[in-house]
Amino acid sequence: MICRWYPVCPIKKYHEQGEIEPDWVADYCMVSNPNCMRKRLEEQGIYHPDNMMPDGSMRQDPK
Ligand code: SF4
Repeated sequence: MICRWYPVCPIKKYHEQGEIEPDWVADYCMVSNPNCMRKRLEEQGIYHPDNMMPDGSMRQDPK
């Protein structure tokens, strides 16, 4: 089951723009992974920056 936040999640945008490894979406968003840090924070109403990845690490922009 796809994560309910996917339509509005910046990870979707990064994925569609080919800016991140596809594994992020496959391993987290497409299976609604309960370990997603973004989801946990979202559902607690806690701020998290757009460039925070599902595992809580910060996205490294390509050089
Ligand atoms: S990154 Fe997390 S919150 Fe965003 S769509 Fe994927 S699983 Fe959901």
